[in-house]
Amino acid sequence: MKKVVKFGGSSLASAEQFKKVSDIIRADESRKFVVPSAPGKRFPDDIKVTDMLYNCYRTASEGKSIKDSVEKIKARYNEIINGLGLDLSLDYEFEVLEKNFIDQIGVDYAASRGEYLNGIIMANYLGYEFVDAATVIFFNDDGTFNASLTNEILSKKLESVERAVVPGFYGAKKNGEVKTFSRGGSDVTGSIVAKAIKADLYENWTDVSGFLVADPRIVNNPQVITTITYKELRELSYMGATVLHEDAIFPVRKEGIPINIRNTNAPQDEGTMIVESTCKKTPNIITGIAGKKGFTAVNIEKDMMNSEIGFGRKVLSAFEENGISFEHTPSGIDTMTIFVHQTEFEEKEQLVMSAIHKYASPDSIELETDLALIAVVGRGMKSNRGTAAKIFEALAKANINIKMIDQGSSELNIIIGVRNEDFENAIKSIYNIFVK
Ligand code: ASP
Repeated sequence: MKKVVKFGGSSLASAEQFKKVSDIIRADESRKFVVPSAPGKRFPDDIKVTDMLYNCYRTASEGKSIKDSVEKIKARYNEIINGLGLDLSLDYEFEVLEKNFIDQIGVDYAASRGEYLNGIIMANYLGYEFVDAATVIFFNDDGTFNASLTNEILSKKLESVERAVVPGFYGAKKNGEVKTFSRGGSDVTGSIVAKAIKADLYENWTDVSGFLVADPRIVNNPQVITTITYKELRELSYMGATVLHEDAIFPVRKEGIPINIRNTNAPQDEGTMIVESTCKKTPNIITGIAGKKGFTAVNIEKDMMNSEIGFGRKVLSAFEENGISFEHTPSGIDTMTIFVHQTEFEEKEQLVMSAIHKYASPDSIELETDLALIAVVGRGMKSNRGTAAKIFEALAKANINIKMIDQGSSELNIIIGVRNEDFENAIKSIYNIFVK
């Protein structure tokens, strides 16, 4: 049994957190490959080391002295090293870092040092081999991730070591230039390492006990989702549920490796299992609810629209040519509505509307702003009757007007549009009707 364990920034913010992490790793023989993030916040107003690095690099770019900010970053690491009682000095590493910041060798290099240095400490503390991600994780010249080269080199390298620490978040181009994933990207590294070693499980340790059925800022103490499929997770994270980096599912999903979200501060909790498919029934029919505010509906009307071949294509080309992606397009006989992100659309609204007129000659176009979309997601909906009825009942009881309904034929989710101001109440009422 081989497991990859990734620890997020809050799990590694202090020596005390490092000790919890080491207890977790030592409690299970199969936790052989460790992917650390950079130290995160120790308390709510604290600054993540990654942000300190970005700021420090910017200060250097303005030609100002970075002595103080480098010292502050160093102090974060020394606090950990001393708290763990390690015989380790990062003095040389910080000399190199400071010089490279002044020489402005790259902002991605700057950001990556958070994980790099944390990886050195972690490897030293655990007695595992340190594998610099810049030597095993590769990006193409255009900045995209090079999955095949990475898998080839990384799997070969990790075959030759029993236990290793591979820092998260970064890799390098073939010319050695360091490149990072987008923020939160250590999750992606964990997944890539899991694929390379053909892990049985990818454990992603964070500061929550898994995915919640609904946003805890809206629903009081929501239930934890025990098992979720990759598809369900895609739907929920697209709609704003963030625990795991969106791209982290792709490398492991293809290999059939499950991801287990766990809580470093509550290791006894089982967390959430993310799997390709499962026979396990969801306890509440629905798996989760997520949503976003800030949509505009572009309502287009034209008599005899239903018989005009190519009407939809003409309308959508007006959005495409202005670089605007659409979310949903519910339609009627003579109407078609396009849901778009309000802020994105606002900038180009007149251009888009004149293009719709030019290509599709509609009778009228009306805009409705300040709408929210809510996704009710669940593999359990497919075999159950009355899910939509229950949602509508909940919303009617809460006196909420439904602006739009959309259910794909996969029956995995139902999307509901409501006014922004009804958003929180709508989520609460849907949660309450399903979750007992
Ligand atoms: N340290 C990076 C960030 O703050 C990457 C990560 O934590 O996954 O975004």
